[in-house]
Amino acid sequence: MSYFSTRGGACVTASQAILAGIAEDGGLYVPSMFPQVNDELLRRMEDMTYEQRAVEILSLYLEDYTRDEVAACVHAAYTGKFDHPEIAPLHALTDKTHILELFHGPTLAFKDMALQLLPHLMKCAQEKNGETREIAILVATSGDTGKAALEGFRNVAGTSCTVFYPMDGVSEIQQLQMTTTDGNNTHVIAVHGNFDDAQTGVKALFGSESFVEKMREEGRVLSSANSINFGRLVPQIVYYFSAYADLLRDGQIALGEPVNFVVPTGNFGDILAGYYARCMGLPVARLICASNRNDVLTEFFASGIYSIHRLFYKTISPSMDILVSSNLERLLYEAADRDGSLVKTWMELLHDCGSYSVGEQRREWLASIFAAGCADDAETRQEIRAIFSEYEYLMDPHTAVASKVLRDYRRETGDDTVSVIVSTASPFKFAPDVSAVLQGQTAVRHLDAFACSDILHNLCRLPVPQQILELREKPVLHEAQCDKDTESMAEAVLTSLRGKEE
Ligand SMILES: *Cc1c(COP(=O)(O)O)cnc(C)c1O
Repeated sequence: MSYFSTRGGACVTASQAILAGIAEDGGLYVPSMFPQVNDELLRRMEDMTYEQRAVEILSLYLEDYTRDEVAACVHAAYTGKFDHPEIAPLHALTDKTHILELFHGPTLAFKDMALQLLPHLMKCAQEKNGETREIAILVATSGDTGKAALEGFRNVAGTSCTVFYPMDGVSEIQQLQMTTTDGNNTHVIAVHGNFDDAQTGVKALFGSESFVEKMREEGRVLSSANSINFGRLVPQIVYYFSAYADLLRDGQIALGEPVNFVVPTGNFGDILAGYYARCMGLPVARLICASNRNDVLTEFFASGIYSIHRLFYKTISPSMDILVSSNLERLLYEAADRDGSLVKTWMELLHDCGSYSVGEQRREWLASIFAAGCADDAETRQEIRAIFSEYEYLMDPHTAVASKVLRDYRRETGDDTVSVIVSTASPFKFAPDVSAVLQGQTAVRHLDAFACSDILHNLCRLPVPQQILELREKPVLHEAQCDKDTESMAEAVLTSLRGKEE
């Protein structure tokens, strides 16, 4: 199997796609075909551990990795790093509604599922391709990705990881999670600006010849750990199969019975992995795309028009506050019957005019696979309350958006297919908002995130995750700051990288 660019060019191996991150023509790498999984393998997966399931699925895509290499990467990623023995356990809310908990990793959000594995895949790719330079990962984060990348790359030989976060744009817990990271190759820099400033700055660094040249002189090559890298997408396919295998094992479904997945969506990476699983033969009925008040995708699936001429809202599900969902490009490639030049045209229209339309026929094709809906903050809060009072199950705001969208979807369609809600974060990661929902804003107004975690603990009797408890004790190790112009950011990276080497 080889990897093509969504914009028509390129033909590379899996390890080359992972090393490069993005194709030279600006497109995203996609597999040349979807390997098929038969009933026999689905049956066998019932009795496998998560790691074994991962080796089966990943080996189908990572053709230039040996099975032993894949197994070693998987082992390094998941063994001893998650606080649940099943890694991605399924929680039955009812017979028809199951919750796939993807938040048991080191940073309490689903990004760990991929970012624990990516560094190992990348290191292996480095060796395979005779790349002797240090892989310098640059990340701009609005909160969750930064810490997940730092945890994943921490102390991985031959790599370094530098994260830029907006100075006043992340939560107290998120900031502490990042600034207390240890390890000999981690760098965290606060940018005087918002997330867009940080993101624009990082993109500018990738495009700056003088910066790239300076890095090269110091023996480093740049790469990206954000969700456009195929190495972040492929680990996410695994948990769709794993959830299905668990439903089979627990007698909730019969082999071949289709299941719906509802996914809280931002950059479209998580739900796209579900689509890939479906293309591989996993019996998926509908993929339901759930958005918050930033409902650009809901509009897209309804109209076939993607338009960023709209307001941007800050919500209580911040990881879904996004206007340009970059991974949608991979779905467009399939919608365009793999015509890269058509995808290129749409992406140019988006860049130049802020919108494009895929046309009625393609919209109908998309609607035969995807449903979409959205929930605002008030509905999200109400959903957290409703699920807690009915089932004593506590959802984080992102998961609650998905739960509410599933509720609406069922009411509107009458579809009672067994459905899996993909849960992307622990409620403890958003303790101030979640405790305010349950106790009232006035009761928690003056409390810090740790006190709010204690409230959640008392309400639902779940232990406060170790990762949060530790934050109270850990010293802050990263205090670097910089201005938002490219020169300042370049200088900050070089200073930080040199500092750690001395
Ligand atoms: C990143 C993130 C999402 C969105 O996932 P995409 O792959 O970007 O669609 C949803 N919830 C949480 C908690 C996240 O961190």
